[in-house]
Amino acid sequence: MERILIVEDEKPIREFMTIVLGREDFHVLQAVSGEEALAMLQDHEVDLMVLDIRLPGIDGFEVCRRVREDYPGIAIIMVTAKSQDLDKIMGLELGADDYIIKPFNVYELIARIRAVLRRIRQSQPEKSKVIIDGQIEISPASHTVYKDDQIIELTPREFDLLVTLAQHPGVVLNRDRLLDMVWEEDYFGDTKTVDVHIRRLREKIEDDPSDPVYIETVWGIGYKWRAR
Ligand code: CA
Repeated sequence: MERILIVEDEKPIREFMTIVLGREDFHVLQAVSGEEALAMLQDHEVDLMVLDIRLPGIDGFEVCRRVREDYPGIAIIMVTAKSQDLDKIMGLELGADDYIIKPFNVYELIARIRAVLRRIRQSQPEKSKVIIDGQIEISPASHTVYKDDQIIELTPREFDLLVTLAQHPGVVLNRDRLLDMVWEEDYFGDTKTVDVHIRRLREKIEDDPSDPVYIETVWGIGYKWRAR
């Protein structure tokens, strides 16, 4: 069930949306301010936020900015009552996925929520999907990698690094981003660690580690899995 967080200070609107979205089989959470919404995100999983711009305390623009920074996977639909806001939504490239203007028809909102969720699902690689590329087959669910049907022994970190790269074929991932995605918060060292792990990974998966075909180096930036 998809989880929607409604951030709206006007109680009648918030409660009405909660009831209607609940009937549509969404799991609905509510926050009356930006501060409350950000606090909720720390211990609730949310797929999409319906975010009012005019809020007491920090406004919807600031909430949007912070969510984009800290929770890039959460979709955001901004709610605005003013055309000036609309200019800002369009002009600032806040990273909202869509917007809707008050007063709105709640079924219009539902249609937009579904469209945004569908779009996101299509653009995100399925986390557990088996990846087959050339001689390499990676099964994230069972944590195994085969090359030419031979199992390859990887450490958990090497495995995570491999999956992260292979799930983004053709996309250059810089070292900081890889540290973030693979090492997450339990690492405070420098980006050389990434290079060391890449080298070990290449020794295990490449035919010729000095002339890699799967993991390419993008000089001065980072690494990318070959495009498919
Ligand atoms: Ca408001």
